[in-house]
Amino acid sequence: MIEMQSVSKTYTTGRNRVEALKSVSFVVDERDFVAIQGSSGSGKSTLLNVLGILDSFDAGTYLLDGTPMTDLTPTQAAHYRNRFIGFVFQSFNLIQHKTALENVALPLYYRGINRKQRHSAALEYLDRMGMKDRADHLPKELSGGQSQRVAIARAMVTQPVLLLADEPTGALDSQNTEQILQLFNEMNGEGMTVVVVTHEDEVADSAGRVVQLHDGEIVRDYRNAPH
Ligand code: ADP
Ligand code: MG
Repeated sequence: MIEMQSVSKTYTTGRNRVEALKSVSFVVDERDFVAIQGSSGSGKSTLLNVLGILDSFDAGTYLLDGTPMTDLTPTQAAHYRNRFIGFVFQSFNLIQHKTALENVALPLYYRGINRKQRHSAALEYLDRMGMKDRADHLPKELSGGQSQRVAIARAMVTQPVLLLADEPTGALDSQNTEQILQLFNEMNGEGMTVVVVTHEDEVADSAGRVVQLHDGEIVRDYRNAPH
């Protein structure tokens, strides 16, 4: 699914250079559930943004489903993102003036799917996330955990093969964290490849495999005992 070979990325701002990724190589198999763990500034978001084709890199190779993600035009990048990937962010990124249902249906609008089908698919995914009864609520009327479940429904509604999540439970209490992790596990059990970035042990423990980053380098890569 994912194959990275010696991927490096440096940010240059004025006189400062930060090597955010230093020759990172790793492979993620289809259907795996991988946590990328590291302290703040270790390069987790940079790595996830490269994986999600949201950001470019300076050197190395990144193959997504066998295709090199190099020198893509914005249109090609959007095509791969839309076709393969669902994103979940720490801050949910819901559109404030749209209802839960409208937020979840939006990616289907961009795919040219008609209103009736959009709404029925959005309702189905809200239902799967236990949020059907909040379909008409605005984001400000939802708790953090509920907002994240809507955001996950939005990520899933296009049926991606890869779910990328950046600190998805970073703004949630432990009970809601538990619920979100359970949903990720369920989706992974149904065949979805999941890569989640986190600094929390609780999140790393729930994944099948943990890749630890430190200063832009992979320092540890291990599998959790099955549970
Ligand atoms: P993490 O998500 O693990 O906290 P990041 O990937 O966000 O780490 O950042 C890795 C390093 O790259 C940090 O030192 C950070 O300051 C730097 N960095 C991240 N984004 C930028 C940017 N847009 N411009 C300059 N430096 C950046
Ligand atoms: Mg980050």
